[in-house]
Amino acid sequence: MRLRDRPVLRDIVLVGGGHSHVGVLRRFGMHPVPGVRLTLIGRDTHTPYSGMLPGYIAGHYDYDEVHIDLSRLAQFAGARFLRDEAVGLDLDARSVRCRDRPPVRYDRLSINIGSTPQMDNVAGALEHAVPVKPISGFDARWRSLLDRVRDHAGGTRIAVVGGGAGGVEMALAMHYRLRGELRGLGRNPDDLRLHVLTKGAEVLPTHNARVRRAFERVLAERGIDLRRGAEVVEVSAAGLRTANGETLEVDEVIWVTNAGGAPWLRETGLALDADGFIQVTDTLQTVTDPYVFAAGDVASMLNYPLEKAGVFAVRQGPKLAENLRRAAEGRKLKAYHPQSRWLALISTGDQFAVASRGAVSLRGAWVWRWKDWIDRRFMSRFSDLPAMEGDEPVAPTTVRLEGEEAAQALSTIAMRCGGCGAKTGASVLSRALGALRPVERDDVLIGLHAPDDAAVVRVPRGKAMVHTVDFFRAFVDDPYLFGKIAANHALGDIFAMGAEAQSATAIVTVPPGLEAKVEDVLHQMMSGAVEVLNEADCALVGGHTGEGVELALGFAINGLVDEDGASIMRKGSMRPGDTLILTKPIGTGTLFAAHARWQARGRWIDAALVSMCQSNRLAARCLREHAATACTDLTGFGLLGHLVEMTRPSGVHAELNLSALPVLEGAEQTSAAGLLSSLQPANVRLRRALRNQQEAANHPRYPLIFDPQTAGGLLASVPAARAGACLDTLRALGYQHAAAIGRVLDLGNELAPIVLLPA
Ligand SMILES: Cc1cc2nc3c(=O)[nH]c(=O)nc-3n(C[C@H](O)[C@H](O)[C@H](O)COP(=O)(O)OP(=O)(O)OC[C@H]3O[C@@H](n4cnc5c(N)ncnc54)[C@H](O)[C@@H]3O)c2cc1C
Repeated sequence: MRLRDRPVLRDIVLVGGGHSHVGVLRRFGMHPVPGVRLTLIGRDTHTPYSGMLPGYIAGHYDYDEVHIDLSRLAQFAGARFLRDEAVGLDLDARSVRCRDRPPVRYDRLSINIGSTPQMDNVAGALEHAVPVKPISGFDARWRSLLDRVRDHAGGTRIAVVGGGAGGVEMALAMHYRLRGELRGLGRNPDDLRLHVLTKGAEVLPTHNARVRRAFERVLAERGIDLRRGAEVVEVSAAGLRTANGETLEVDEVIWVTNAGGAPWLRETGLALDADGFIQVTDTLQTVTDPYVFAAGDVASMLNYPLEKAGVFAVRQGPKLAENLRRAAEGRKLKAYHPQSRWLALISTGDQFAVASRGAVSLRGAWVWRWKDWIDRRFMSRFSDLPAMEGDEPVAPTTVRLEGEEAAQALSTIAMRCGGCGAKTGASVLSRALGALRPVERDDVLIGLHAPDDAAVVRVPRGKAMVHTVDFFRAFVDDPYLFGKIAANHALGDIFAMGAEAQSATAIVTVPPGLEAKVEDVLHQMMSGAVEVLNEADCALVGGHTGEGVELALGFAINGLVDEDGASIMRKGSMRPGDTLILTKPIGTGTLFAAHARWQARGRWIDAALVSMCQSNRLAARCLREHAATACTDLTGFGLLGHLVEMTRPSGVHAELNLSALPVLEGAEQTSAAGLLSSLQPANVRLRRALRNQQEAANHPRYPLIFDPQTAGGLLASVPAARAGACLDTLRALGYQHAAAIGRVLDLGNELAPIVLLPA
């Protein structure tokens, strides 16, 4: 039994993948607590490491060197990664409200979401300034700024507002990088003018005088205009104005001033300090609710007024991990005492840095190399994840439960040993499913709105009914997303037939556990599924839920087509000369095989999930309107398997252009690395259908024609004369990867029906 398959007794939910939570995830990955499920709710899949951000801006590091891949780290930690943004809390119900999904319940919660710029008190700042914080979104803002500077004819004037370590370091890094960019474009680097404005009398006010002088000197040497006592009170498209009436014309304003807590925290009921940060005790528990913890910038320690620096967020990680574990085990928590002095290594943009600690100051290229070594070593802890061989030994849970929960846990564990297959309790079901709102349709006579032993639906006059069923186990840890994908996958058959969906019944297996946990998983999963079914105007009319070893979901779906069958799209009616069109990219099988082994980048998985959630409904309509002669949806047999399913009954052959195949980002790399779905070997047997397999086998996309798809796109044959217009419409409908991937050939003399291009 794998640890993550054990009954869940406690849910620890981490909101935000900040510097503290990455440490928590790593620690739980290395030392899991049986019975504890970790969930990370994160707005961004790749979170930046603040220490290397200036080096990234200066161009010394690439994106992946300075970002921690939360999706991969969560996978390592055995944690669920819910890519979403927390927007509220319900402390009584112990749940986190999210932007795009049902609330997520917790037993213990920890918040590490960094800080938010406070710009709304300066006129025009929100519209015209580029905030550095939150640092998680800065990359996109920085890239568009880079483009603007590159495209800007003549000189560019940039103002950096904020003279703390962050502001000065950022100004120097930008200066270094942008001058290099201008030089690279054959332009004069002196076309760039940089200004640093600070409200106070000094830059880097929290550092010693020698450090301050060093940075003043560097700024002067670089020709960066430093303005002290310059509090910016207004920003406009033309520039900015300070409190003493001075105006400055600039093209860009970068905002690096002190930040505050996220606005949504104000509605949570948690006690906040004057800047909106969450007040916490030495154990990192909020003063309001001992079940809620906070760390990093967002936490304001009652007994230690700390500077907002990543170094503290990092240091809090181990103590937070220990306290979350202790809280689950019902043990006494430990106090975190921050050091009174800390080492800051502040770079000057040109691979030179200044060390600052208390009254000490050192500087040189060697300080940069030292900083670089420390930073890279830190990052390697999250990129070079230690191999955790095999399944963990079955250890008794150390989670402390009392009363009803303890009794339920005992019976859950007993049930596991006694076997599965029991029906899930009626009260759990009614609570989990009661809040769902499936669409109501006139042709559904008896459905979930008035449940009975079975649903009753009418086949409208002039229509015929299309039936299909699909069922598969959860391959992602996010039950809401899994529900969406499972429903989308099941609907694929209906749309591929040229039908519209009418009604669905669900079949669910859910691992046994505490009632509240089972209810939550069911609710999350079915909410996702119902959202997708509703969008397709498909009424969920009933279902059956039982216990099983794994979470799994399937649907029997009924669709409707015109009785005369004119709109039906069959597999077996391809015509020679037709163009083969594929509406979505392939590669989901290999990407998720790689994900399971921590070998896929988070953004590849994000893109694959988006593709899996995209409905085939509009694509099917478009194909029908462009007189598709045949159509199928891509699922487990892979592209080649499904193509052969079409060519054989059509009595045709086909040519497939490997270079034209739309492929998900990362899929070529993962398949080349041999990270393949367990279904791939069965699909590879079909290579006998290939005429020139040996010549094509070295093509990087060759393995992907065998890759099994989940909720894949539609593969259709369209008359060649209509193919161009069909593709234009598909792309306008949002299928931006839709492509012509080959053509249908006459049935030749060759035995093997498929020829691959390039040969
Ligand atoms: C230019 C610059 C340079 C800096 N250099 C240094 C340095 O060298 N050393 C140093 O110690 N400090 C440095 N700092 C300060 C440092 O950036 C912050 O103190 C640090 O990032 C705070 O870390 P954190 O863990 O609290 O949050 P963050 O690192 O900001 O992480 C927050 C995470 O939470 C996620 N998130 C945010 N809101 C939500 C939400 N509502 N729901 C879900 N997820 C959410 C984000 O996506 C992100 O992953 C620098 C700051 C700047 C601006």
